[in-house]
Amino acid sequence: MNDFKGKLFVFSAPSGSGKTTIVRHLLTQERLNLEFSISAASREPRGKEEDGKDYYFISSKAFKEKIKNDEFLEWEEVYRDNFYGTLKSEVERIWKKGKHVIFDIDVVGGLRIKKKFPEQTLAVFVKPPSVDELKIRLKKRSTESEDKINMRIAKASIEMATAPQFDKIIKNYDLQVALKEAENLVEEFLNQ
Ligand code: 5GP
Repeated sequence: MNDFKGKLFVFSAPSGSGKTTIVRHLLTQERLNLEFSISAASREPRGKEEDGKDYYFISSKAFKEKIKNDEFLEWEEVYRDNFYGTLKSEVERIWKKGKHVIFDIDVVGGLRIKKKFPEQTLAVFVKPPSVDELKIRLKKRSTESEDKINMRIAKASIEMATAPQFDKIIKNYDLQVALKEAENLVEEFLNQ
């Protein structure tokens, strides 16, 4: 177990592009031996989200305390007053179990992880068909207010421009195709 060389799989994309669906699908593939990196977040839980499963939901104050104590591998104020970050202890926890880590995080955080572990990380950008399509998807999800949706869409255009910095890009135009492509990319990187 001690010489287990854990890998890291980063899936980043604008909110609503389908990356969470892809990550969830990969987690059901036992042969890939992946475990989800649970981020810390200072926002309120949405819908059926659970603390310690989807996120570690903590207050902004607790989040800032952890920043001060250097407990994060990376962190980001993704939206104003909404902090998100990967705790160093989370990656350690997963590697200790002999598993590879999969991240569902924003583009800035994703690229930071890649920079910290360049050899061990496969960074994948999930591209939605268009910003208009994103709008439709986010509205359909309807878990957020109009304001929050607009905030996510404004950010999406900026995020799209970072795609070339990733190792791989998956175009999520057809979900079934995207899921298969994601599986293949992970498998290939595990076999390297
Ligand atoms: P949501 O509020 O929709 O769950 O997430 C908002 C954004 O924050 C998404 O793009 C999500 O991928 C990103 N995010 C989630 N966890 C982390 C994290 O640990 N670090 C960073 N940098 N972004 C994250």
